[in-house]
Amino acid sequence: MTFDNARGLPTPGRPSSTSPDVSATPSVVQSLRRHAEGAVPFSVEFSPPRDEAGEQRLWRAVRTFERMHPAFVSMTYGAGGSTRERTVRVTGELALQTTLLPVGHLTAVGHSVAELRSIVGAYADSGISNILVLRGDPPGDPLGEWHKHPEGVEYAEELVRIVRDLGDFHVGVASFPQGHHRSLDLDHDTAHLAAKLRAGAEYSITQMFFDVDDYLRLRDRIVALDPAEGAKPIIPELMPITSLRTVERAEQLCGRPLPERVVERLHRAAGSGPEEDRAAVRAAGIEIATEMGERLIAEGAPCLHFITLNFAKATSEVLANLGYGVTAAPISA
Ligand SMILES: Cc1cc2nc3c(=O)[nH]c(=O)nc-3n(C[C@H](O)[C@H](O)[C@H](O)COP(=O)(O)OP(=O)(O)OC[C@H]3O[C@@H](n4cnc5c(N)ncnc54)[C@H](O)[C@@H]3O)c2cc1C
Repeated sequence: MTFDNARGLPTPGRPSSTSPDVSATPSVVQSLRRHAEGAVPFSVEFSPPRDEAGEQRLWRAVRTFERMHPAFVSMTYGAGGSTRERTVRVTGELALQTTLLPVGHLTAVGHSVAELRSIVGAYADSGISNILVLRGDPPGDPLGEWHKHPEGVEYAEELVRIVRDLGDFHVGVASFPQGHHRSLDLDHDTAHLAAKLRAGAEYSITQMFFDVDDYLRLRDRIVALDPAEGAKPIIPELMPITSLRTVERAEQLCGRPLPERVVERLHRAAGSGPEEDRAAVRAAGIEIATEMGERLIAEGAPCLHFITLNFAKATSEVLANLGYGVTAAPISA
């Protein structure tokens, strides 16, 4: 991929290749089916590393999860500049250097349609045929005013069509158990999700949540609105809380406060001393994620998708609690 030096963006133009060899790489949905023959599969989300230390941490986590055979791994797309270039590069490295099935995220923020096509071409050139298509949030303040690029797209639905028109890409989209923070209400939110699925998305991954009932209600809403689209997998996203600081991070990612009973449980674990009892908070966070995983599996979730922040240890502990095969190899991240 060539980049415009001033903005770190791919230069506009037709992608050099738009037809990834889909026979060589399965789609996420095919991988879910294959993995589900044993048990409910799991998957993990990584972020592009910022520096050399971050790159090493990412690869330690990658190798740890590789031994546990996730159905797929996804790589987030940054707010701008060089992290975006890294997303495409590292996702390509995952395809080339591991046995994992990588999914590259793509957002519409700050990109013209020509640039978006060019990035999709770069994914294709790296052998990536699975793309999670998102609108993205305004850079700086995720809750701020959204402005589309003058030559870009307004909604993720349009980007789904663009990616599908470019070749045999397998597209996933975002879904929101509590509704997206900009949606008028849950009915509008569900209708927009159905439109993205109808435009050609094969599955959705939810925003992180802490009340399983919200996930189940989303599933019921989409099935009631459109049984065909509602039959597509809705993959729940979980994040084990490991410190009170992670609560803030989780709230940023959710765009809303965590349920009071979850926050109270974590604060109770933290104790009333001057220092947070970090081990107890971490244990409570792992317990919460484990309980959610148990219920989601019992309710027939198609997969459990974990935000890892490029650390393997907490997610591995949750997976071990849920009975997933963790290898004997030491977990170092
Ligand atoms: C699993 C997951 C992964 C994510 N990964 C990233 C990432 O890598 N990088 C990143 O920057 N962000 C990421 N995000 C955040 C995401 O980009 C934001 O939540 C963003 O605000 C919404 O994206 P979307 O694709 O759902 O947008 P859209 O589907 O376009 O929806 C945006 C808003 O518009 C409404 N809407 C949609 N269509 C219409 C219509 N036709 N008319 C009127 N209103 C409409 C929707 O209801 C919603 O309120 C991720 C979110 C999730 C859940």
